[in-house]
Amino acid sequence: MTERQQEMEKKAFITREQAEKIAETYPTPWHIYDERGIRENAEKVKKAFSWNKGFREYFAVKATPNPFILKILREYDCGTDCSSLTELMMSDACGFSGHHIMFSSNDTPPQEFAFADRLGAIINLDDITHIETVEKVLGRFPETMCCRYNPGGMFELSNGIMDNPGDSKYGMTPAQITEAFRILKAKGVKHFGIHAFLASNTVTNEYYPKLAGILFREAVRLHRETGADIRFVNLSGGVGIPYRPEQEPNDILAIGEGVRKVYEEILVPAGLGDVAIYTEMGRFMLGPYGALVTKAIHEKHIYKEYIGTDACACNLMRPAMYGAYHHITVLGKENAPADHIYDVTGSLCENNDKFAIDRKLPKVDMGDYLFIHDTGAHGFSMGYNYNGKLRSAELLLKPDGSVQMIRRAETPADYFATFDFCGIMDKYLKN
Ligand SMILES: *Cc1c(COP(=O)(O)O)cnc(C)c1O
Repeated sequence: MTERQQEMEKKAFITREQAEKIAETYPTPWHIYDERGIRENAEKVKKAFSWNKGFREYFAVKATPNPFILKILREYDCGTDCSSLTELMMSDACGFSGHHIMFSSNDTPPQEFAFADRLGAIINLDDITHIETVEKVLGRFPETMCCRYNPGGMFELSNGIMDNPGDSKYGMTPAQITEAFRILKAKGVKHFGIHAFLASNTVTNEYYPKLAGILFREAVRLHRETGADIRFVNLSGGVGIPYRPEQEPNDILAIGEGVRKVYEEILVPAGLGDVAIYTEMGRFMLGPYGALVTKAIHEKHIYKEYIGTDACACNLMRPAMYGAYHHITVLGKENAPADHIYDVTGSLCENNDKFAIDRKLPKVDMGDYLFIHDTGAHGFSMGYNYNGKLRSAELLLKPDGSVQMIRRAETPADYFATFDFCGIMDKYLKN
């Protein structure tokens, strides 16, 4: 095997023996997170942007809303990026406050602006009409405000990745953001930021530098035309991870350097050399450092070969929702030839409840543990309760090899809890 092939091989961060041991205490399925990997990556992100004095990563809470994870990231001076009331509450409870919280929501209920403001969060306005809403609920404006930008049209990178900002619901047009800055400035806002999210899961080092170029030019324009004091540019999320083994991972150090280059080309000559760079990565911060571990409990031979697991799309929705690829390692069979072809399924009464379709795997035996890779972001958090399925536990693999439960599995009593007012389900409301 060449070095490149070895690199491309996706390795599970636990062994079969570990999975068996953990399952004695925590029955499968569970999501497990690799604390060492999370820490090393957070350190690297910090280093990649260390050239920028005000740099901060605001972790997108929606990717992995777990207080234990947020507290680890806080040690690296990360903030949180929130888009809902409960995400703000979790940030607050984990000790984030003031400008360590970014409230990047859209279609925002007015009271949520009030709650964000009470925490001292930076409010990022998705739409020009939100100016009136904020004024109504707060009766004033915070000193610092951010506005979300949407350049419209198509956004394309050289490797063919593209997205269609002109078709997305987010952000303000160039004319609107100019108007928004003018209004906010007239109403006493002193410091400004701009934000844009133009493409998702970009597996290329080119995305952030290209986006930075667009936002930096826009910042210079807004500064010139409105006189606004621009303090930060928020590159938001969108930095991707290699879900497929043949994909080349992003190099965050190269990405940081790429952003620095455009910063020096555009912002520095325009006299904006003290603008802070913010990011709101979710997937890149956690995705590879989480996995869903599930047990093979059924095999079925009809027109195709099926392996049924004890997990389902309620535990990991991405394959059913987007047809997303998640690599699967059969623990203990890492070196066995992948000479069988299976559909790996969950138990929902939905035919799209498949973690993999026509996947080449080693022969799967009942009781084998399947390690479904890259569920650390937008994995557990997209879970739901369809078919009365219960959400799994979340576990943290500590650097010393021990395992900490960071969320317990749901019980039927949790599922029935919203009937606690009527007596009907009382029989099942106790665990
Ligand atoms: C979802 C989201 C993010 C995180 O996106 P990733 O692709 O996970 O990096 C960041 N900011 C906003 C506003 C988002 O909606």
